[in-house]
Amino acid sequence: MPNTSFSEIIQTRSGEPLHTCYFCQKCTAGCPVAYAMDYKPAQVVRLILLGRRDTLLRSNAPWLCVGCDTCGARCPNDIYLAPVMDVLKEMALEAGLAPAEKKVYALHQSFLDSIKLWGRTHELSMLMEYKLRAVDLFTDLDLGLRLMLKGKIALLPERVKDLERVRALYRRVGR
Ligand code: SF4
Ligand code: SF4
Repeated sequence: MPNTSFSEIIQTRSGEPLHTCYFCQKCTAGCPVAYAMDYKPAQVVRLILLGRRDTLLRSNAPWLCVGCDTCGARCPNDIYLAPVMDVLKEMALEAGLAPAEKKVYALHQSFLDSIKLWGRTHELSMLMEYKLRAVDLFTDLDLGLRLMLKGKIALLPERVKDLERVRALYRRVGR
């Protein structure tokens, strides 16, 4: 018997018709990061329909999803899992749980801060913020320096012209 409240909340917030899932697992077969997930994409759908809220809010699967939409392109029922994974991440944070992949969360935060500040990403300051948030100062430092020397990472940021419109979006969601 499905737990209607949990699965209905996820379906309403994501807009994805999970109840139509056949469990054919085509989403899992095509997902580029399924190998690293504790629960594979099709299992996530099944666990939602079974109402396994606590399991899913502690799972690393939503944090590892890269939003590539391969699952939706392969699904016979047009179920796209990126919005579902987003809802699970939001619900985990709303429940006060620590993100299952702390470095992924650190990157999300740094990305959003960069967009808020400049209206676009500025890789250098974004990555510096990420390294501080993730407490990971030295990994890939040599690679970063090489990219800078080749001019692939800009030293100075550029602001978009209408930054106020970008910031209005942030205010709408209370950031
Ligand atoms: S591809 Fe679609 S129908 Fe098949 S298991 Fe995944 S979500 Fe369900
Ligand atoms: S959107 Fe997420 S769940 Fe779907 S295939 Fe891409 S990484 Fe996997």
